[in-house]
Amino acid sequence: MNSVVQFYRDPELGAVESREFRVFNDRSLDRIPAVAALPEAMRFEMRVVASVLPFRVNDYVIEELIDWDRVPDDPMFQLTFPQREMLEPGAFERMADLHRKGASRGEIQALARELREDLNPHPAGQLELNRPSEEAGEVITGLQHKYRETVLFFPGQGQTCHSYCTFCFRWAQFVGDKELRIASTDAGLLHDYLRSHTEISDLLMTGGDPLVMKTKHLKAYLEGLLEPDLAHVQTVRIGTKALTFWPYRFVTDSDADELLHLLERLAEAGKHVALMAHYNHPHELRTPIAREAIRRVRDTGAEIRAQGPLLRHINDDPGAWADLWREEVRLGIIPYYMFVERDTGARRYFEVPLARAWEIYREAMQQVSGLGRTARGPSMSAEPGKVEIQGVAEIQGEKVFVLRFIQARNPDWVQRPFFARYDDQATWLDQLQPAFGEERFFFEDELAAIKAASGE
Ligand SMILES: *Cc1c(COP(=O)(O)O)cnc(C)c1O
Repeated sequence: MNSVVQFYRDPELGAVESREFRVFNDRSLDRIPAVAALPEAMRFEMRVVASVLPFRVNDYVIEELIDWDRVPDDPMFQLTFPQREMLEPGAFERMADLHRKGASRGEIQALARELREDLNPHPAGQLELNRPSEEAGEVITGLQHKYRETVLFFPGQGQTCHSYCTFCFRWAQFVGDKELRIASTDAGLLHDYLRSHTEISDLLMTGGDPLVMKTKHLKAYLEGLLEPDLAHVQTVRIGTKALTFWPYRFVTDSDADELLHLLERLAEAGKHVALMAHYNHPHELRTPIAREAIRRVRDTGAEIRAQGPLLRHINDDPGAWADLWREEVRLGIIPYYMFVERDTGARRYFEVPLARAWEIYREAMQQVSGLGRTARGPSMSAEPGKVEIQGVAEIQGEKVFVLRFIQARNPDWVQRPFFARYDDQATWLDQLQPAFGEERFFFEDELAAIKAASGE
C-alpha cells in the first residue's frame, strides 16, 4: 500500500520505544510503587472512593504524565486518582466505615450501588430519551440519536478506557451494573439504522473509548461505511482519550499501523475522519510519544479536534486553557468545545460556577490568536441540547446570562439567543431561571412534549 504513514519517522524524536500496557484498578492500587510511598491515610481515602467511583490507571500515565513531586495538586494526578472530597462527606464516612471494619466485597459493593444512585448515573435522560426505536418498537441499545445529523454508537468492545478520568460523565458505563450500560456489538444493526436514516451525515463512535478495541473490531463497524448506500454518512468521528492515555495505540501497538491504514482508507474514500480527542491540560501534549501519535494520525488525512470539560482542581485557570489551545494549534489539532462539567458523578468536586466558567473562557480566548478561538463554550450538554454561555450582560437594568443552543433536540432552537437571570453560584442549566420575569424558557413546552411522546 502506498502510505506515508508506514515509512516516515520524525528524526528529531528518534526511535520511540514501545511499552507493554500495564493497568491498575481499585484492587491493585497499593501495588503502584509511587502510591505505596504516599501516607497510609491518603491511600485509605483513595481506596474508599475507588470502591464507589471507577478507578483505572496505566503505567504510562503514572510514569510519564503525573509529576509525583506535586501530588496531590498535580493536575494529571487529580485527573486519574480518587480524592476524598469526590464523595459527599456522609457517603464517604459510610463507605470508610465498611473498610475499617474489614467488610466483605459483597457488602462494599452493595453500599457502592446504593451510593451511586445518588450520583445521577445517567444525566440528560440518556437511557430513556435518546434511544431510537426500531420499526418493530424495540429499543436499539448502543445507539443514541439526539441531534438530527449525528448518531452516537457505543461499540460493545469499546466500553472501557486506557485509564479512567475521575470526572467521567459516563462513569456508570464502568461500574458493572449491566442494566445501566449502553452498548452494542451488532455492526449490522448500526449499518441498517444508518441506511434507513439518510438525514444522518455524521457517525460518532464513542464509549468508553472505541480505540481500546482491536483494529479488526473497529473495521467491522467502519468498513461498511464505504458501501454506496452509506454514502450519506460523510463524517466518521471517533471519541477518544487514547492520544493522552495510550498514544502507543497509534505508534507501537501490534495493530497500530492497521488502525492508521483504516483511517487512511476512509479518508481516501472521501469521508471526513475526525478523532474527537479529549484533552484537559497542556501537559497531555508534551511527551514525545504523544506528539508522534498526533503526527501519525494527521498523516492519514484524519483531523484531530479537541474537546474537554472545565474542571476545578485540574484546569480552572485561563492560562492553562490558553496554553492548551496554543499547543493544540501548533500540533495541528483544532480546538472544538470547552464543556461545563456535567451534573453527575464527582461533580461536587469538579464543578465551576457558570459565571466563573465564562470568565475563564473569555480570558483564555483573549490570549490566543484567531486559530485558537475555534473552541466553543462553555457548553452544557443538557437534556434539551448543548447550551452555550455566551456572556453576561445588563439589559434594561437586569443582569443576565446570554445563552444559545449550539445543538438542540429541535434544530429550530439552534442559535436563538435567550436569557437567564444572572446567578453567580449556578453550575448547571436546571439551576437557572428565565430573565425578565418570564415563567419558562422558550423551549420548555416543546421539550415537555418531546418527553411525553417518548413515554417518560
Ligand atoms: C455533542 C453531541 C453530538 C455532536 O454534536 P456536534 O455539535 O455536531 O459536535 C451528538 N450527539 C450527542 C448526544 C452529543 O452530546
